[in-house]
Amino acid sequence: MTQTPESRPTALAGTDFVPGPVLLLGAPGVGKGTQAQLLVTKYNIPQISTGDLLRGNIARGTELGLKAKEIMSSGHLVDDEIVNQMVLHRLQEKDTHRGYILDGYPRNLEQATFLDHTVADPIYLPRLPVIAVSIVVSYDKLLARITGRRNCPVCKHIYNVCANPPKVAGVCDLDGASLTQRGDDTEQVFIERMKTFQAQTAPVIAHYHDQGRFEEADGNQGVEAVNVAIEQAILKLRRAPRG
Ligand code: AMP
Repeated sequence: MTQTPESRPTALAGTDFVPGPVLLLGAPGVGKGTQAQLLVTKYNIPQISTGDLLRGNIARGTELGLKAKEIMSSGHLVDDEIVNQMVLHRLQEKDTHRGYILDGYPRNLEQATFLDHTVADPIYLPRLPVIAVSIVVSYDKLLARITGRRNCPVCKHIYNVCANPPKVAGVCDLDGASLTQRGDDTEQVFIERMKTFQAQTAPVIAHYHDQGRFEEADGNQGVEAVNVAIEQAILKLRRAPRG
Protein backbone atom coordinates (compact mmCIF):
# COMPACT_ATOMS: atom_id res chain seq x y z
CA MET A 1 0.00 0.00 0.00
CA THR A 2 1.42 3.41 -1.00
CA GLN A 3 1.11 6.11 1.62
CA THR A 4 1.20 9.83 0.91
CA PRO A 5 3.06 11.95 3.46
CA GLU A 6 -0.34 13.22 4.70
CA SER A 7 -1.71 9.74 5.33
CA ARG A 8 1.34 8.47 7.22
CA PRO A 9 0.88 8.04 10.95
CA THR A 10 2.26 11.02 12.80
CA ALA A 11 3.77 10.72 16.23
CA LEU A 12 1.61 13.29 17.94
CA ALA A 13 -1.93 13.72 16.77
CA GLY A 14 -3.91 14.59 19.90
CA THR A 15 -5.56 11.49 21.32
CA ASP A 16 -4.48 9.56 18.21
CA PHE A 17 -0.92 9.41 19.47
CA VAL A 18 0.96 6.71 17.57
CA PRO A 19 3.74 5.35 19.79
CA GLY A 20 5.46 3.42 16.98
CA PRO A 21 8.17 0.86 17.71
CA VAL A 22 9.32 1.24 21.32
CA LEU A 23 12.18 -0.77 22.81
CA LEU A 24 12.28 -1.33 26.54
CA LEU A 25 15.89 -2.02 27.42
CA GLY A 26 17.56 -2.84 30.72
CA ALA A 27 19.18 -5.59 32.76
CA PRO A 28 17.22 -8.66 33.89
CA GLY A 29 14.72 -7.68 36.58
CA VAL A 30 14.51 -3.93 35.89
CA GLY A 31 10.75 -4.31 35.35
CA LYS A 32 10.51 -4.40 31.56
CA GLY A 33 7.61 -6.88 31.63
CA THR A 34 5.61 -4.94 34.24
CA GLN A 35 6.16 -1.64 32.47
CA ALA A 36 5.37 -3.13 29.07
CA GLN A 37 1.99 -4.32 30.40
CA LEU A 38 1.16 -0.77 31.55
CA LEU A 39 2.13 0.67 28.16
CA VAL A 40 -0.02 -1.93 26.40
CA THR A 41 -3.06 -0.74 28.38
CA LYS A 42 -2.25 2.93 27.88
CA TYR A 43 -1.50 2.87 24.14
CA ASN A 44 -3.46 -0.20 23.06
CA ILE A 45 -0.50 -1.72 21.22
CA PRO A 46 0.98 -5.21 21.73
CA GLN A 47 3.89 -6.23 23.93
CA ILE A 48 6.31 -8.47 22.10
CA SER A 49 8.54 -10.28 24.58
CA THR A 50 11.07 -12.63 23.03
CA GLY A 51 11.45 -14.35 26.41
CA ASP A 52 7.68 -15.04 26.50
CA LEU A 53 7.67 -16.22 22.87
CA LEU A 54 10.54 -18.61 23.65
CA ARG A 55 8.88 -19.87 26.85
CA GLY A 56 5.67 -20.40 24.85
CA ASN A 57 7.62 -22.59 22.43
CA ILE A 58 9.13 -24.56 25.32
CA ALA A 59 5.67 -25.06 26.86
CA ARG A 60 4.28 -26.30 23.53
CA GLY A 61 7.30 -28.58 23.05
CA THR A 62 8.13 -27.18 19.59
CA GLU A 63 11.46 -27.85 17.86
CA LEU A 64 12.42 -24.24 18.50
CA GLY A 65 11.52 -24.64 22.18
CA LEU A 66 13.69 -27.74 22.48
CA LYS A 67 16.66 -25.84 21.02
CA ALA A 68 16.12 -22.83 23.28
CA LYS A 69 15.45 -24.60 26.58
CA GLU A 70 18.98 -25.51 27.59
CA ILE A 71 20.47 -22.18 26.51
CA MET A 72 17.84 -20.26 28.47
CA SER A 73 18.40 -22.24 31.64
CA SER A 74 22.14 -21.38 31.44
CA GLY A 75 21.48 -17.61 31.20
CA HIS A 76 23.03 -17.31 27.74
CA LEU A 77 21.43 -15.96 24.57
CA VAL A 78 19.45 -18.06 22.12
CA ASP A 79 20.78 -17.94 18.51
CA ASP A 80 20.16 -14.65 16.70
CA GLU A 81 18.75 -16.46 13.68
CA ILE A 82 16.01 -18.13 15.75
CA VAL A 83 15.08 -14.99 17.67
CA ASN A 84 15.22 -12.66 14.64
CA GLN A 85 12.90 -14.89 12.60
CA MET A 86 10.50 -15.14 15.54
CA VAL A 87 10.35 -11.33 15.80
CA LEU A 88 10.06 -10.90 12.03
CA HIS A 89 6.97 -13.11 11.94
CA ARG A 90 5.43 -11.41 14.94
CA LEU A 91 5.90 -7.92 13.45
CA GLN A 92 3.91 -8.96 10.38
CA GLU A 93 0.74 -9.36 12.44
CA LYS A 94 -1.87 -6.63 12.00
CA ASP A 95 -1.98 -5.52 15.62
CA THR A 96 1.44 -3.86 15.23
CA HIS A 97 0.28 -1.15 12.79
CA ARG A 98 0.28 1.66 15.40
CA GLY A 99 3.33 0.40 17.21
CA TYR A 100 4.52 -2.21 19.69
CA ILE A 101 6.59 -2.60 22.81
CA LEU A 102 9.60 -4.83 22.30
CA ASP A 103 10.61 -6.33 25.61
CA GLY A 104 13.88 -8.25 25.77
CA TYR A 105 14.84 -7.62 22.15
CA PRO A 106 17.30 -6.65 20.71
CA ARG A 107 19.79 -8.25 23.08
CA ASN A 108 22.95 -7.67 21.00
CA LEU A 109 24.18 -5.47 18.15
CA GLU A 110 23.43 -8.10 15.48
CA GLN A 111 19.77 -8.18 16.57
CA ALA A 112 19.67 -4.34 16.71
CA THR A 113 20.96 -4.11 13.13
CA PHE A 114 18.44 -6.72 12.00
CA LEU A 115 15.62 -4.81 13.69
CA ASP A 116 16.71 -1.45 12.23
CA HIS A 117 16.57 -2.92 8.72
CA THR A 118 13.25 -4.66 9.34
CA VAL A 119 11.56 -1.54 10.69
CA ALA A 120 12.95 0.53 7.81
CA ASP A 121 11.43 -1.95 5.30
CA PRO A 122 8.36 -0.27 3.73
CA ILE A 123 6.15 -3.33 4.30
CA TYR A 124 6.20 -2.74 8.06
CA LEU A 125 3.89 -0.23 9.73
CA PRO A 126 4.03 2.22 11.37
CA ARG A 127 6.83 3.93 9.46
CA LEU A 128 8.38 5.51 12.47
CA PRO A 129 11.94 4.95 13.65
CA VAL A 130 12.65 2.78 16.65
CA ILE A 131 12.96 4.62 19.96
CA ALA A 132 14.59 3.08 23.02
CA VAL A 133 14.00 3.60 26.72
CA SER A 134 16.41 1.99 29.15
CA ILE A 135 15.25 1.30 32.71
CA VAL A 136 18.12 1.60 35.18
CA VAL A 137 18.11 -0.17 38.58
CA SER A 138 20.91 -0.84 41.11
CA TYR A 139 22.47 -4.34 41.21
CA ASP A 140 21.26 -5.24 44.74
CA LYS A 141 17.67 -4.30 43.94
CA LEU A 142 17.81 -6.39 40.77
CA LEU A 143 18.97 -9.48 42.62
CA ALA A 144 16.14 -9.11 45.19
CA ARG A 145 13.58 -8.58 42.45
CA ILE A 146 14.70 -11.55 40.37
CA THR A 147 14.83 -14.07 43.19
CA GLY A 148 11.50 -12.80 44.61
CA ARG A 149 9.65 -12.71 41.29
CA ARG A 150 6.53 -14.88 40.93
CA ASN A 151 4.34 -15.15 37.84
CA CYS A 152 0.72 -15.98 37.21
CA PRO A 153 0.69 -18.58 34.43
CA VAL A 154 -2.89 -17.63 33.51
CA CYS A 155 -3.14 -13.80 33.37
CA LYS A 156 0.66 -13.19 33.29
CA HIS A 157 0.50 -10.77 36.23
CA ILE A 158 3.91 -10.40 37.89
CA TYR A 159 4.33 -10.31 41.70
CA ASN A 160 7.29 -9.99 44.04
CA VAL A 161 7.31 -11.78 47.39
CA CYS A 162 8.79 -8.68 49.12
CA ALA A 163 7.82 -5.59 47.14
CA ASN A 164 4.48 -6.61 45.65
CA PRO A 165 3.21 -9.83 47.27
CA PRO A 166 -0.16 -11.39 46.42
CA LYS A 167 -2.83 -11.20 49.16
CA VAL A 168 -2.52 -14.97 49.74
CA ALA A 169 1.02 -16.37 49.40
CA GLY A 170 1.49 -18.26 46.14
CA VAL A 171 -1.96 -17.43 44.74
CA CYS A 172 -2.84 -14.87 42.02
CA ASP A 173 -5.11 -12.08 43.33
CA LEU A 174 -6.80 -11.77 39.95
CA ASP A 175 -7.73 -15.33 39.03
CA GLY A 176 -6.74 -17.61 41.92
CA ALA A 177 -4.14 -19.54 39.89
CA SER A 178 -1.05 -20.95 41.66
CA LEU A 179 1.91 -18.65 41.05
CA THR A 180 5.07 -20.04 39.46
CA GLN A 181 8.74 -19.09 39.55
CA ARG A 182 10.79 -19.02 36.35
CA GLY A 183 13.56 -21.63 36.30
CA ASP A 184 16.14 -18.92 35.45
CA ASP A 185 15.12 -16.61 38.32
CA THR A 186 17.80 -17.97 40.67
CA GLU A 187 20.87 -16.11 41.98
CA GLN A 188 23.25 -18.36 40.05
CA VAL A 189 21.54 -17.83 36.69
CA PHE A 190 21.02 -14.12 37.49
CA ILE A 191 24.81 -13.66 37.74
CA GLU A 192 25.25 -15.28 34.31
CA ARG A 193 22.43 -13.19 32.82
CA MET A 194 24.06 -10.00 34.17
CA LYS A 195 27.37 -10.98 32.58
CA THR A 196 25.58 -11.58 29.27
CA PHE A 197 23.80 -8.24 29.63
CA GLN A 198 27.04 -6.30 30.23
CA ALA A 199 28.88 -7.97 27.38
CA GLN A 200 26.15 -8.05 24.73
CA THR A 201 23.21 -5.77 25.55
CA ALA A 202 25.08 -2.72 26.88
CA PRO A 203 26.38 -2.03 23.31
CA VAL A 204 22.74 -1.98 22.09
CA ILE A 205 22.07 0.87 24.53
CA ALA A 206 25.11 2.72 23.16
CA HIS A 207 23.86 2.07 19.59
CA TYR A 208 20.48 3.80 20.14
CA HIS A 209 22.08 6.49 22.31
CA ASP A 210 24.45 7.37 19.45
CA GLN A 211 21.47 7.64 17.07
CA GLY A 212 19.76 10.15 19.40
CA ARG A 213 16.81 7.79 19.89
CA PHE A 214 17.43 6.97 23.50
CA GLU A 215 16.30 8.01 27.00
CA GLU A 216 16.89 6.55 30.45
CA ALA A 217 14.21 6.04 33.11
CA ASP A 218 15.08 5.66 36.80
CA GLY A 219 13.74 2.23 37.76
CA ASN A 220 14.64 2.53 41.47
CA GLN A 221 11.17 3.98 42.17
CA GLY A 222 7.66 2.62 42.54
CA VAL A 223 5.96 1.07 39.51
CA GLU A 224 3.75 4.12 38.87
CA ALA A 225 6.63 6.60 39.03
CA VAL A 226 8.70 4.48 36.63
CA ASN A 227 5.72 4.34 34.29
CA VAL A 228 5.41 8.14 34.29
CA ALA A 229 9.14 8.46 33.56
CA ILE A 230 8.85 6.03 30.62
CA GLU A 231 5.82 7.78 29.13
CA GLN A 232 7.60 11.13 29.38
CA ALA A 233 10.62 9.61 27.64
CA ILE A 234 8.44 8.21 24.83
CA LEU A 235 6.72 11.58 24.25
CA LYS A 236 10.06 13.38 24.27
CA LEU A 237 11.61 10.96 21.78
CA ARG A 238 8.62 11.10 19.41
CA ARG A 239 8.62 14.91 19.52
CA ALA A 240 12.34 15.10 18.74
CA PRO A 241 13.05 16.24 15.18
CA ARG A 242 13.91 13.34 12.92
CA GLY A 243 17.31 13.21 11.24
P1 AMP B 1 13.73 -12.66 29.42
O1 AMP B 1 12.37 -13.23 29.66
O2 AMP B 1 13.68 -11.47 28.48
O3 AMP B 1 14.46 -12.34 30.71
O4 AMP B 1 14.58 -13.79 28.66
C1 AMP B 1 14.84 -15.04 29.26
C2 AMP B 1 15.89 -15.78 28.46
O5 AMP B 1 15.38 -15.99 27.11
C3 AMP B 1 17.20 -15.02 28.26
O6 AMP B 1 18.09 -15.20 29.36
C4 AMP B 1 17.71 -15.67 26.96
O7 AMP B 1 18.25 -16.96 27.21
C5 AMP B 1 16.43 -15.86 26.15
N1 AMP B 1 16.14 -14.67 25.33
C6 AMP B 1 15.12 -13.77 25.47
N2 AMP B 1 15.17 -12.81 24.56
C7 AMP B 1 16.27 -13.08 23.79
C8 AMP B 1 16.88 -12.44 22.69
N3 AMP B 1 16.39 -11.28 22.19
N4 AMP B 1 18.00 -13.01 22.15
C9 AMP B 1 18.50 -14.16 22.65
N5 AMP B 1 18.00 -14.81 23.70
C10 AMP B 1 16.89 -14.28 24.28
